[in-house]
Amino acid sequence: MAERITGHTELIGLMAYPIRHSSSPAMHNEAFAYLGLDYAYLAFEVDNSTLEDAVKGLRALKMVGSNVSMPNKTVVHKYLDELSPAAELCGAVNTIVNENGKLTGHITDGIGYMQSLKDYDIDVIGKKMTIAGAGGAATAIEIQAALDGVKEMSIFNIKDKFWDNAVETVKKINEQTDCKATLYDLADLDALKREIDDSYLFANATGVGMKPLEGKAVIPDTSFLRPDLIVTDTVYSPAETELLRMAKEVGCKCMNGFGMMLFQGAAAFKLWTGKEMPIEHMKEVLGIKYED
Ligand code: NAD
Repeated sequence: MAERITGHTELIGLMAYPIRHSSSPAMHNEAFAYLGLDYAYLAFEVDNSTLEDAVKGLRALKMVGSNVSMPNKTVVHKYLDELSPAAELCGAVNTIVNENGKLTGHITDGIGYMQSLKDYDIDVIGKKMTIAGAGGAATAIEIQAALDGVKEMSIFNIKDKFWDNAVETVKKINEQTDCKATLYDLADLDALKREIDDSYLFANATGVGMKPLEGKAVIPDTSFLRPDLIVTDTVYSPAETELLRMAKEVGCKCMNGFGMMLFQGAAAFKLWTGKEMPIEHMKEVLGIKYED
């Protein structure tokens, strides 16, 4: 590292709180070193109270850009000059790109999910998917899937504080893309079974399956699944959630959240450097497997 950093090294940041646990610095710095690119990626503890100053700092220091995570994703747009179409539709930003002082906000979580499907030979374009979730991860996936050409989408969520967000997302998808989206209450198990039965892919994009909801799933039992259904989970800790355990039992092709994590990073990496992240190398180094 001491040899790698010079007076020319360009800086990319990550602004979030808490953030010390993040695997993004290891991922990006490994990719820079592997490709011999003169960048360094550092995590900064930034919350809503210091975000504006941090973005001013990014401009002043002529940083290449930054990732943004919680609690800043839905706030940072106020301090940027432009938003990508997906970031605009999601109302969230996870990547800032600085082009000669013009700051553009992007959201790469949905791109990451769609790209990980492609990488695992899953083609949902022109088909129907059912997805559980209305939070940050779910909204990014739903918007990107609709923009990319998923034909029909059934969205399920519990009637919690995220419900209104789901209503908004469905409205935007139906008004601004060619995808037909419908919202259902996750408590309506008849509708959930019917919509999954009619879908090519079922995605969990809620926090159900990870702590404190580890061991739980958004479907009650394996009768909701069939062997030719694709089942994905945004959760990657644990690598095999209860949903994926059930899906494997039935014989479904499964994908955990590692692919989304890797490819959201790869999409940001491309925006900053113009280069492809060395995906196979990163999978090896990070020990990433889509199925546990
Ligand atoms: P969020 O807090 O924005 O949204 C939480 C979602 O979970 C909402 O839809 C909420 O209604 C739902 N939910 C909460 N408790 C529930 C319950 N008891 N039953 C049913 N639904 C419930 O969170 P987020 O940022 O969208 O993250 C959701 C999951 O996706 C997390 O597990 C997170 O780790 C994962 N994630 C993965 C990646 C990745 O790169 N793989 C990226 C972001 C998030």
